[in-house]
Amino acid sequence: MSFTAEVAVSYVVAIYITSLTNPPVAAAERTRAEASVTDQVVPQLTVRVYNLANVRPYIVMWAEAEAERMLQSTHLKLNWVNCSKNERPSVCTSRDGPTDLMVRIVPMAYHQASAKALGAITKAEDHNSAVLFYDRVMALRDFHRASHLILGRAMAHEIVHLLLPVNSHAGQGLMRATWNVEDLGVASPACLGLSNRWIMMVQEEARRRIEAARSIQDRPAR
Ligand SMILES: [Zn+2]
Repeated sequence: MSFTAEVAVSYVVAIYITSLTNPPVAAAERTRAEASVTDQVVPQLTVRVYNLANVRPYIVMWAEAEAERMLQSTHLKLNWVNCSKNERPSVCTSRDGPTDLMVRIVPMAYHQASAKALGAITKAEDHNSAVLFYDRVMALRDFHRASHLILGRAMAHEIVHLLLPVNSHAGQGLMRATWNVEDLGVASPACLGLSNRWIMMVQEEARRRIEAARSIQDRPAR
């Protein structure tokens, strides 16, 4: 059994045992208890995806589904918000908070990016954001490698970068620094998998961000 499968199984078992050993509670209490367990077990973050490359909306949505699949082992609940010229919920123009992960899909790779990078992390004054180069995604696309799979896997890789220390790369799985074109094929599992240590670090960082957001909310207004 692979490492990620073990984590997934123990997670499901833990939830099941909790529900068996709990005494019956009133419906409202159960809802509160479940909400608190869910809040504790599954940290929630928002991913704002800014489509600055006029990528067709269904490609972006399929890419997000692929990214979600790649990130399943992190046990994060990601709420995806799509921001484009045509579709712009008000949250897209609001200032981002600690629980917002910012992802930008841009038409062309930045000059300073390394030659084959599909994406990068850009540093702003007080936060980082991820950027994905759509021209490079399209250059790799072919019959075996759909654009949404390439975009989604690159998106998942950069999202993990946002939650880990700078330059966190691994010898295998999602966080390899370089991928082969075969790794981007429909059925290839090569981009799946994160180390146990990194899953813990991603979870810790997500919880830190949630706490930071709460402390901002609790701060008295001036
Ligand atoms: Zn990387």
